[in-house]
Amino acid sequence: MNANPMSDQFYAAAAAARRIVAAHAFPDSPVVVRPRGWVDEVSDDFMAAYRADPRGCLHLQSPQPVFGTLQEMGIVRCVGCYTLHALAGVRPPCDRCGGDSSDVCQGSVTVGPVVIVVSMCDACRAVTNAEQQG
Ligand SMILES: [Zn+2]
Ligand SMILES: [Zn+2]
Repeated sequence: MNANPMSDQFYAAAAAARRIVAAHAFPDSPVVVRPRGWVDEVSDDFMAAYRADPRGCLHLQSPQPVFGTLQEMGIVRCVGCYTLHALAGVRPPCDRCGGDSSDVCQGSVTVGPVVIVVSMCDACRAVTNAEQQG
């Protein structure tokens, strides 16, 4: 129990975001608690874009897990709006190499309550996984 109810909600949202990310891991990827290398850099870029110009859907008044992608740096959406947006979109290219091979799949990383969905091809995923081993 925390004395600050907003802080409680923030930590609950961050914990929910971590559970979502664990359930949405890339196939064969370790669950990454502290991302390294490229994933860490693009997560920082996303958060910097958000802090410079916070944009999102209209349902973000209370702390909750929110979702963003590297195609739209700094834009966050609630789970409902993110799902509709993702369903309406085209299959994204690899966020790391820009290729759009058929093996691109999605995983995610979390920064507090922010879930950043990352698309990567098999080759980039292998490189990124190797970076996490350090
Ligand atoms: Zn929304
Ligand atoms: Zn790639």
